[in-house]
Amino acid sequence: MADKRAVIAGVEVSLDHWIDGQRVGSAERFANASPIDGADLGSVAAGGAAEAEMAVAAAAKAFPAWAALGPKGRLPILKRFAEGILARANDIAAVETADNGSLLAGNLHRMVPRAAQNISFFAEWALGLNDHAIDHPEVVNNVRYDPAGVAALITPWNAPFMLTTWKVGPALAAGNTAVIKPPEWAPLSCSLLADIAHAAGLPPGVLNVLQGIGEDAGDALVNDARLARISFTGSPETARIIGQAAARTITPMSSELGGKSPFIVCGDADLDAAAQTVAGQYINAGQVCLAGTRILVEASVATEFLAKVRAAVGQMTVGDPRLPTTRVGPLIHREHFARVAGFVDRARAAGADLLWGGGRDAAGALYFQPTMFAGVGPGDEIAQDEVFGPVLTWQTFADDAEAIRLANGTRYGLAGTLFCGNEARAMRIAERVVAGTLWVNCFFVRDLAAPFGGARISGIGREGGTHSFDFYCDIKNIAVRKGSFASPGSPS
Ligand code: NAD
Repeated sequence: MADKRAVIAGVEVSLDHWIDGQRVGSAERFANASPIDGADLGSVAAGGAAEAEMAVAAAAKAFPAWAALGPKGRLPILKRFAEGILARANDIAAVETADNGSLLAGNLHRMVPRAAQNISFFAEWALGLNDHAIDHPEVVNNVRYDPAGVAALITPWNAPFMLTTWKVGPALAAGNTAVIKPPEWAPLSCSLLADIAHAAGLPPGVLNVLQGIGEDAGDALVNDARLARISFTGSPETARIIGQAAARTITPMSSELGGKSPFIVCGDADLDAAAQTVAGQYINAGQVCLAGTRILVEASVATEFLAKVRAAVGQMTVGDPRLPTTRVGPLIHREHFARVAGFVDRARAAGADLLWGGGRDAAGALYFQPTMFAGVGPGDEIAQDEVFGPVLTWQTFADDAEAIRLANGTRYGLAGTLFCGNEARAMRIAERVVAGTLWVNCFFVRDLAAPFGGARISGIGREGGTHSFDFYCDIKNIAVRKGSFASPGSPS
């Protein structure tokens, strides 16, 4: 039976699962609409226990042959996969923007090239994994990074294509096979990923896409005892639920979760650069896990800096994310809009000072104005909880100790940003801020070789470079007694 398809922004996209090298439908389907204008994007297959079982079975069947290829055998296939992503950059960017409302230019020029790099970088890194020997007086410890098995890869809607490839790259390069569970509010770009993988020659079953609602398809997937790994990016609330499933089967799980990151501005910083970067926290309507949403400013420059930030934010256009001039697009969904509006309404009711924004933008139903609150206490909900919208808070500090105390004053620890003019001072502050990544005089620079992850409730584990393989591989030590072989040699 032909799969169900839709034409999204001129691109044909399958709305079905991709399992064992084939499109598979479901009796149940869910509606999907564009946050840009509410346009119907078609009804997507809603998987359940049966489809999850098929997807994991397909991945398990494909695993031995894919693992046996070794990093060298997988490299050309994964390189073709990365090239295929680049070749379809326009299609992927257009579909992603229609589906989740993220900026088209950002998808085309940053997210899609990065997605291709996610595949090729880890495929190349894997070549050097098994060359690690530790000498001991009696033995040689040959450390091997063996493929683990089937990995479940679960991603959120704010950047599904890029975030999925961040998992697919190391998972497949390590020799695992995978089942992707895309987010139900933006399921389409992962469907394109399956087409590209197929065209690149990935064997059937190596990469599967299980569409559906988190509580149904996702739940069935993470409860499958055949999984060797669960890699999850999303909210702490969902991580707690998935973590219980992982605990039952003792399946290693990595969690990249939410943030409420501090953005510290010292009085001696380049205030113009800092102000532009603060305004940049509204990009993609603030639906960015790494966004520095708590602006902490040294009191001595607060008035001057606020004027600069206000001017920079005033230059930002809210509107259609397909237009190159737009900086702030829509929120993803009406439920999410209500959630963001709820935070804003409660902050106002609690007495916070609204410096700008605060409600729906004239651009359309799901467009929220860039919003800033001052007069916020460190324990207030708006300063503590992740809004995941274009809502920032403004607090001042008298000295570095107070800046550090405010920065560390939430349960989160994903990232932080610091603008400072003095290197020694910057490093003193940076070393004391609890965060997986701390940017100094820059923002959002992510090196694929560098560790990435969150402290506290922002996550468990680190990925990037060798850390990704520490997670996706079964690391084994083959300890060989020295001089115990008549004919010497070493494991390949
Ligand atoms: P979410 O936790 O609601 O959903 C994430 C994914 O989990 C979706 O694919 C969903 O279908 C699936 N899911 C939901 N319930 C499930 C269940 N019971 N079993 C299995 N899967 C289930 O998160 P969201 O609203 O899609 O995304 C927003 C959150 O993601 C924010 O907290 C944001 O900060 C975080 N995020 C973190 C990073 C990071 O790298 N740390 C990156 C992007 C987003």
